[in-house]
Amino acid sequence: MANVTLSGLKKSFGAVHIIPDLNLAIADKEFVVLVGPSGCGKTTALRMIAGLEESSGGTIRIGDRDVTALRPGLRNVAMVFQNYALYPHMNVAANIGYGMKARGEKPAAIQAAVNRAARIVALDKLLERRPKELSGGQRQRVAIARALVRDPDVFLFDEPLSNLDAKLRVEMRTEIRKLHRDLQATMIYVTHDQVEAMTLADRVVVMNGGRIEQAADPMTLYSRPANVFVAGFIGAPSMNFVDVTIRSGPDGPQIALPGGAVLTLPRHFHTALAQRGDQAVIMGIRPEHLVENTANAPLQMQVETVETLGSHRLLIGTLAGAPFTAQVPSDYSATEGRAVGVSPDLNQLHLFDGITKLSLLGQV
Ligand code: ATP
Repeated sequence: MANVTLSGLKKSFGAVHIIPDLNLAIADKEFVVLVGPSGCGKTTALRMIAGLEESSGGTIRIGDRDVTALRPGLRNVAMVFQNYALYPHMNVAANIGYGMKARGEKPAAIQAAVNRAARIVALDKLLERRPKELSGGQRQRVAIARALVRDPDVFLFDEPLSNLDAKLRVEMRTEIRKLHRDLQATMIYVTHDQVEAMTLADRVVVMNGGRIEQAADPMTLYSRPANVFVAGFIGAPSMNFVDVTIRSGPDGPQIALPGGAVLTLPRHFHTALAQRGDQAVIMGIRPEHLVENTANAPLQMQVETVETLGSHRLLIGTLAGAPFTAQVPSDYSATEGRAVGVSPDLNQLHLFDGITKLSLLGQV
């Protein structure tokens, strides 16, 4: 297995620069997930690592080899695609062993490798079936087994679960995580689903417009997002953003909220805010970090709809004209169309520069 290093990697399609300058070091055995909105360049980055897409500049190293100019077959990577790409007329065993057969390997070696891979993904009872006789999850397992027999340095996954229904997606997520644990392999996984990214990854790389917004472990991304983009992208439902003003108060810096309430900030903000007088900043607060208390609450939201999710309820509406969501206990009796007072947990507050949109606490 091997580490992967992208240095100054670029991709242009004609005059359009999709990836201007990508730098990323992936450690041996690491599970890295590239996540970001549609069109941010994550699939293109993965395809460049696989060699399926030529890079327009920069280098790709796998282990101690510069593979930038190597054709896909020589890079020793295996890719699992969203659409499985199985041969419909071949049975499971033939699909899994196809690559080895094409390389002219001996039938006994192919059979041994196929049996081993099929056992790992629990397909050993289904080797005679054709793809059309399999469920979506089983087909995806064939695609994974086909990658396994190659014994690659690096596994590349391109949205492998997006064709599966929600329940199966959760099951396969667990299986892929387990596969990583058992194989101790370097894995690079692309998805637009932030929940998938958070649950699978050792490290999540959040991309936007061909650039990396932040690369960190899931908990750091959640608790210390580097900027407004990451803060809004990671977490479901999304973080709320409210325009506020900073001022200095007798016990340290304060924020003035829409509606007139003023809150003194906890100590961990003091150094970062010491140099800021009367400035506009963006306050971020997650729905799960709000407490509903109508009396004396510093924030008043207008509730438009109430979603009941069993374990809790979501109050969805607006605050000072911007979208706003609060999570409340399931026994909270909410009424649509009325104003509700909510208090933020000040220790869970995020503050971002109004212009640069960067976290005022800096990047971890
Ligand atoms: P999605 O989640 O929708 O697959 P993505 O982040 O994986 O998005 P890419 O598929 O990498 O995005 O595409 C990045 C950008 O490059 C998009 O704007 C896309 O339209 C463009 N693009 C991709 N392939 C080509 C191509 N062959 N020619 C021209 N533009 C392309």
